[in-house]
Amino acid sequence: MSNGRFDLHEYNNKYLSPHPFSIKDTMSFRNFIDQLRSTGKLIEITHPVSSKFEAPGIAKEKGAPILFHDVDGKKAIMNLLGSRDELAAMFSVPKDGIIERLANVSPDGETKIVSDSPTKEVIETDVDLTKLPIMKHFERDGSAYITAGIVVSEYDGTMNASIHRLMVIGKDKLAARLVPPRHTYLLHKNAAAKGEQLPVAIVLGADPTITFATTTRVPVGKEFEYAAALRGSPVELFECDNGIKVPHAEIVLEGYIDVEEVADEGPFVDITGTYDHVRKEPVIHITKIMHRKDPIYHGILPAGAEHLLMMGVPYEPKIYNAVGEVTTVKNVVLTEGGCCYLHAVVQIDKQTEGDGKNAIMAAFAAHTSLKHVVVVDEDIDIFNPNDVEFAIATRVKGDSDIMIIPGVRGSSLDPRGAPDGTSTKVGIDATKVLANVEDFERAKMPQE
Ligand code: MN
Repeated sequence: MSNGRFDLHEYNNKYLSPHPFSIKDTMSFRNFIDQLRSTGKLIEITHPVSSKFEAPGIAKEKGAPILFHDVDGKKAIMNLLGSRDELAAMFSVPKDGIIERLANVSPDGETKIVSDSPTKEVIETDVDLTKLPIMKHFERDGSAYITAGIVVSEYDGTMNASIHRLMVIGKDKLAARLVPPRHTYLLHKNAAAKGEQLPVAIVLGADPTITFATTTRVPVGKEFEYAAALRGSPVELFECDNGIKVPHAEIVLEGYIDVEEVADEGPFVDITGTYDHVRKEPVIHITKIMHRKDPIYHGILPAGAEHLLMMGVPYEPKIYNAVGEVTTVKNVVLTEGGCCYLHAVVQIDKQTEGDGKNAIMAAFAAHTSLKHVVVVDEDIDIFNPNDVEFAIATRVKGDSDIMIIPGVRGSSLDPRGAPDGTSTKVGIDATKVLANVEDFERAKMPQE
């Protein structure tokens, strides 16, 4: 700990040991929870609660990291990375430095295959998913949903790791929303084309840095290398019976995606807080469950802050780097009001007229789901919606500063998107006009 901040690297080093698997890998999920507890940030609920609506309801109401000791008799944590402050602490940087930290990491860290794992403390082959505190979150949800499961898959020498929402449709079956053209979707498509099942392992409760890393769009198969680079230490992986290599975690579900079987998936509340509709999606069969003794299940509240940050923050460095190719970029935020996904504010140090519009095009290219973007100058606080609105109010002339781009690919999560997945993107150049830049200067009180 330094300055009362939680420092992942510092405590990892403290817990280094000569075990066959390093404590820093196996314990970091629990250590992260311990750190939240010792800094007074963790709410603990000891009385029994139901996985059906009750636990998610309490998590939604509290809006802070919350450990349930008894969800249908099992432990569960929610809102684990529920704010930019927690993320910043995890990366040991100030809040406005998260992007720079993320933007400067390449996916070239080290992974290490180990033979044993504490995840194997308990192995169950008589699979019954109802024994896990998998939650049903909202009134009209189709079923209980695993929301923080990292789906690791491999086909033809190519692996992938990413989080997908997984609907419980039987005691050993899940319907998985595989969004095209994401990597899991493609691996399943390739395997199915050859009539083959896709082996998968679903990881719950890994080191939060690893979980965060798998939400990042990195080159194919580089998620764990990215996690290792992000964390500054090798990521240990152990092999499941079906050949899939996974990091140490609280719970691992082993199985495969069926070649042809599909099931109704949905309705489910996604990032916009509205119901995503029912689709036919591939079915995952679970053949084995491994977990630690007294495992802590990780649930992400749909449309909650943790969900929004996990979805959005990984795109901020992508936008940051893309805008950096066309002008001097200072910062980027996917705003909470825009579901941390559909709206961005991009801050630039404008050098020449037109930079704002170039920044708009770069931002849209970097994050295809982005719908509206506002480009502002350095004197605007991008974390303050009022300040951003001030920029729009005083620096925008509608007929020359707004770019409307119809017929482009949008987000499937946008309720206003077209059925074919296209949308209309709007970019607002709210930067000062350089020719009369002095007209836009914000008055200051004289400094003593
Ligand atoms: Mn991937």
